[in-house]
Amino acid sequence: MSQPGVMAETVKSRAELALNDDFLRKAVKFTTERLRNGKKAASEEHGNWEEWRERGRQIRLHTIAHLDYYLNEFVNNARANGVHIHFADTSAEAAAIALDIAEHKQASSVVKSKSMVSEEVHLNHVLEEAGIEAIETDLGEYIIQLAGEAPSHIVIPAIHKNRYQIAELLSKEAGEVLEPDTTVLAGFVRKKLREKFLEADIGLTGCNFAIAETGSMVLFENEGNARMVSTVPRTQITLMGMERIIPSWADLEVMATLLPRSATGQKLTMYMSGITGPRRTADGDGPDEMHIIIVDNGRSLQLGDPEFQELLNCIRCGACLNACPVYRHIGGHAYGGTYSGPIGAVLTPALNGNIDEWNDIASASSLCGACYEACPVKIPLHDMLVYLRRRKVEDGHGNKLETMGMKGFAAVAANSKRFAAAIRLGQLGQKAVVRNGGITLKLGPLKGWNTYRVAPSLAKKSFRQQWSKLEQELSQQPTVMDSAVHERMQQIIRERGEGGGKHGK
Ligand code: SF4
Repeated sequence: MSQPGVMAETVKSRAELALNDDFLRKAVKFTTERLRNGKKAASEEHGNWEEWRERGRQIRLHTIAHLDYYLNEFVNNARANGVHIHFADTSAEAAAIALDIAEHKQASSVVKSKSMVSEEVHLNHVLEEAGIEAIETDLGEYIIQLAGEAPSHIVIPAIHKNRYQIAELLSKEAGEVLEPDTTVLAGFVRKKLREKFLEADIGLTGCNFAIAETGSMVLFENEGNARMVSTVPRTQITLMGMERIIPSWADLEVMATLLPRSATGQKLTMYMSGITGPRRTADGDGPDEMHIIIVDNGRSLQLGDPEFQELLNCIRCGACLNACPVYRHIGGHAYGGTYSGPIGAVLTPALNGNIDEWNDIASASSLCGACYEACPVKIPLHDMLVYLRRRKVEDGHGNKLETMGMKGFAAVAANSKRFAAAIRLGQLGQKAVVRNGGITLKLGPLKGWNTYRVAPSLAKKSFRQQWSKLEQELSQQPTVMDSAVHERMQQIIRERGEGGGKHGK
């Protein structure tokens, strides 16, 4: 079983590994289709989906534009609720703060609910280096922790594995053969994790939303593990990206409508927990001590950037991954970072502040705009991918051959005579290589494309050539337009209309 992303160094080589992994491709296709269909049904059933998308977008735009104000309000209210607030500029700082709390508590084990920020800051590794056991309690996260892999989807971390592969992993852990039956497998994990919850010194959670007006944090989940993590251990640590803020509980109503529907097609997740500080005297459960670590790690670099600020609007629903034709073929590990799919392709270089290091990831998109259509807060990811490509070229890190080719194309396309001459040359030149209406040659720049598909050939007669021929015919009959010629002109116009403009956004 291959593990894309573990060995290969570039997006292209990781994508090739994924494309040759039939298990992965089938598993990713199966689940993304299920999620996409679920989202489609849930948004249609909602009735006013587009209006609510716009409401969600406006809430996020407003919050991020006033992030300093709302963060301050959240921090003051959370402190008044008895929460210890920490700020981390970098991923290393965030992990160090969590480790410091764990060591101060002399913790030997930490149970975790799903947190992409903890993946981002490599917390498990840091804790384990210090001899503290970190146990993932979300089923998908638990599976990939056993496999020694990173999540390959924001919402469904083990999306690339089928139940036979999962049964194999869990059987090793169980020390006996477990049937590849979801009830059996989930039953084993439930029993195993129950002991871990009871033993753990610290519970660590992520944060879906932080409510500024009361200093509360909100978690959406389906398995009940986040509720266990945030109530059983005596100390709770929450890792949250600094952009998780929303102003009020009224805004949460909009987000609670958009997030589960977009993520899994559910009207609401099985559990939604609102946590406002540690346990009070009258509370039946909850931690005695609560810490929230607010993580920047490159997020503030996007503030004030007109091209990338909207990245901070993301609510991590994963809908753009499920809609993306590239992600659905290669899965998440091929992207090489914590976040995958269209959001990962933009977020990873943005968070790292290093476009050069990730300069091939922006090319992992067809720019079809399906991510934008799927996004519940209307983030124009396809535009951002173009900005990333442009910045790469402007910084002098573009592919030299590609840059020369684009300059040549611009010089030809800007002049109608040169363009017509190039088309005639192409029509003549392609005669030797066209087979069944397409070009299958696997040489030069066509090699990558034609390995998996057939490049379309130029039309035998271009639109301009057909048009000028018709104009000639008309000029020979200046008084009455021949109805057949007229019909032919209309047909050409119709064909051009149907063939063009479908993919532009
Ligand atoms: S970019 Fe939009 S669709 Fe993608 S994860 Fe973020 S909110 Fe969801």
